[in-house]
Amino acid sequence: MDETGDTARLARSFLPGTAVLELTFRCNHACLFCSCPWFAPDGRFPRQPEMGVTDWRRSIARLCEMGVNNLAFTGGEPLLKEGLEELLEFAATCAVEHVRSRDGQLVFHQAPPKLYLLSNGQALTRPLLELCRRLDVALSLSLPGLATFAEHTGGGDPDPVLGWFQEARALGIRTTVGITVTRLNIDELYETIAAALLAGADRLLLNRFLPGGRGLANLDRLSLDLDQIQRMLLVAEEVLRSADRYGSVGTELPRCLLPSAPFERLHVGTTCSAAAGFFTVGRGRTRPDLRRARPRSSPVLRTVCVRGRGPLDWS
Ligand code: SF4
Repeated sequence: MDETGDTARLARSFLPGTAVLELTFRCNHACLFCSCPWFAPDGRFPRQPEMGVTDWRRSIARLCEMGVNNLAFTGGEPLLKEGLEELLEFAATCAVEHVRSRDGQLVFHQAPPKLYLLSNGQALTRPLLELCRRLDVALSLSLPGLATFAEHTGGGDPDPVLGWFQEARALGIRTTVGITVTRLNIDELYETIAAALLAGADRLLLNRFLPGGRGLANLDRLSLDLDQIQRMLLVAEEVLRSADRYGSVGTELPRCLLPSAPFERLHVGTTCSAAAGFFTVGRGRTRPDLRRARPRSSPVLRTVCVRGRGPLDWS
């Protein structure tokens, strides 16, 4: 690995370090809480034809040129995207500049981007798992409850997801369990987190239900009140301590809502990292927020929104 030291250097671009790639609008679940904007009941989100593999390859290459060093493949359900394996293989061959500080200097080196795959696990296969191991892809699987899993997802089964955590663990793949917490599953949150960690999940990513997408039609059924939000945090911290693992809350929380108890295992963010920590790429456009914002809605990223119907092109 070639490394060069420096005390200051212009960044490759002003883009955040993580791009969330929405490969497809399609999904094989129908989650009540789904925040994908194209599933919103008002139907106003523009669903244009999906980009194909060739355009996605060009977009990935461009993102890497611009210094984006974390690529998260998602959807909808990314496993439904034709050519996903090819895109993972391609991304793993790209080179991007990674920067860190050491002894008061910035240290730069070229390496492939870090790859993440976010799935509901329903279409997961052993060969894809082995591909994740070979390419060092970190895998995140969603588990919105145990007894309430079918109700949340429109008929899914949590057991196969737990089985994939076990297989991934045996293969040495890094995994995260993603749990969206709602009024329906808060009472089984302890058991849900524990089941995932016992099955082999390395980390927890907790998301409290927020209005968006299909969830807009289910606000009364799913929204947490203040007591439930605080219970969610305390329960997660308790399980993580027992299991000697770590986790984080993906949806920011106002500081005034946090319980006074210290959180040692659960990182609870109080600021939104959309457009600062990550941004979303879908159908040749960028947007700052993973799910809630509409394309071109952000003044922060308006200048880099892609014009036309092709892959990302900031030239
Ligand atoms: S939350 Fe994820 S798994 Fe559920 S319907 Fe939406 S995209 Fe699919």
